[in-house]
Amino acid sequence: MKKVIIYLRTSSDRQLDNTSLSTQEDICRNYCRTEGFEVVECSVNEAVSAKETNEKRVIELLDFAKEMQGKFEVLVVYKLDRFARSQEQHHWLRGQLLKLSIVLRSASERIDETPSGKLVEGVMAAVNEYDNAIRRERSIIGVWKRISDGLWPKQPPTGYWRPKVPGVRLSLCEWDENCYQAIIDIFTFFNTGAYTQDQLAKLMAEKKLKDYKSVTLKFSKQYISKILKNPFYAGLMVNQEGNFVQGKHKPLITIATWEKTQDLLKSKSNNATHKRLYNHPDFTLRRFTKCSFCDKPFTGCWSSGNGGKYAHYYCANPKCERYCQTIPKKELEEKFCDYLKKIKPKEEFIVFFEKVFITRYEERIHEIKGDYLRKMDDIKELEKEQAWLIEKGQKGVIPDDLLEKQLKDLEQKITLSKFSLTDMHAEEVSIDSLLSYAYAFIRTADLVWYDSLSDARLKYQRLIFPDGVSFDGREFSNQRLALPFNLITDIAAKKSTVVRTRGLEPPTLAGYAPQAYAYTKFRHVRAVCLLYQTRTYFQNK
Ligand SMILES: [Zn+2]
Repeated sequence: MKKVIIYLRTSSDRQLDNTSLSTQEDICRNYCRTEGFEVVECSVNEAVSAKETNEKRVIELLDFAKEMQGKFEVLVVYKLDRFARSQEQHHWLRGQLLKLSIVLRSASERIDETPSGKLVEGVMAAVNEYDNAIRRERSIIGVWKRISDGLWPKQPPTGYWRPKVPGVRLSLCEWDENCYQAIIDIFTFFNTGAYTQDQLAKLMAEKKLKDYKSVTLKFSKQYISKILKNPFYAGLMVNQEGNFVQGKHKPLITIATWEKTQDLLKSKSNNATHKRLYNHPDFTLRRFTKCSFCDKPFTGCWSSGNGGKYAHYYCANPKCERYCQTIPKKELEEKFCDYLKKIKPKEEFIVFFEKVFITRYEERIHEIKGDYLRKMDDIKELEKEQAWLIEKGQKGVIPDDLLEKQLKDLEQKITLSKFSLTDMHAEEVSIDSLLSYAYAFIRTADLVWYDSLSDARLKYQRLIFPDGVSFDGREFSNQRLALPFNLITDIAAKKSTVVRTRGLEPPTLAGYAPQAYAYTKFRHVRAVCLLYQTRTYFQNK
């Protein structure tokens, strides 16, 4: 009686073959009984994806056979395609087994060493190979076809899910109510330039968000990077030729936002507020506050005494007369808050500032709208042309290949125009919302700072005092106020004369070229706003 080992492998692809492991084993054992084989062992092997780990499967099988050499003569498998996917591989493996004096049998296909058996074996292996190739090709074509139709054929990325729609094979991805806001936040925060991907990962992980399946989302730095690079969130997909196509799903962010992110990722642009901050959560004023006697930054520390722990700030310069004269943390921070209140412009000044600002931005919005309408007209023209082409194509006036080429060109032009359109739209919207954020921040700077968490505090204080502040033991002073605060004071001071004729150029900045000045100014307002958004985020946390 020939000794036999049954070698089983579970299939990873359930759709292809539903035969369960026990059924496979039954069939193999039956086969052995009818053939008069003695089963020495039945080896069950875990599923591995057939396509990707072909080599691995074969090597595993050979290793197994070598290990068991001498204990058996026949290796019985359930089906040939379970361990060799191409004809060459099949023959090579069989040759290797024969060298070990082992013959191969399939329980569900007829193979043996007779000429007809060899023929069947060869044919079976060829059919398996062909079948695999066809299936692979079909699925690849299917994937690209769906992408060019604007449908996402793969698993939707975090922030989206795919509802089951009866009768529709590939339904549209929709926002995942549980976590789509997190994706928007990731882009918003990253674009402020104030967060590294690492910080974002930590921030998001802390929130312990869940997706629609109630699975807690894990945010690693790599994962954040993947999200930031994914054009799907801006409604785009990449087709087979590597070009963008418009997806049919509802985007979470604008194309302009996504592009800004890509620029930041490539460090093409950098935000004004992006600074390395000495981030100590307990001592936000450390390093930011300088000792006014020696101009060296304060440091902070915890000390114990009287049965408690106390936080202090102090000048750590041994040569300074104020060396180690500590100020309690609470006291210094309250004083700083008072100082913020003091430098905060009076309400009437803000109202005036607002008027001037809005006049300037209304002009800008007007300009944008003009450009916008012109661009819209361009797109309409292109679309008309497209419709005309399609109509001619349907009538058969234009040969198919030419039609296809021209339609492709048009499509590209339209996409490009739409890109710049969204850009303009984004600027228009942002001016409005940015302004309102900025005013809120300017009006309540002291309060905003006081109830912010340390991360946000560091950013606010840097924003208001770009060069930090000085403390003389009793009072704060500063070298430079940030532009929005400065402007308010300046404009208010000159309100009767200069402003009316020269708009927003206060005399202190008269040397600047007007455009450059307007640009700087806008960036500052923008920065204030983005930080304000951050604050809102922290509050909602
Ligand atoms: Zn000092």
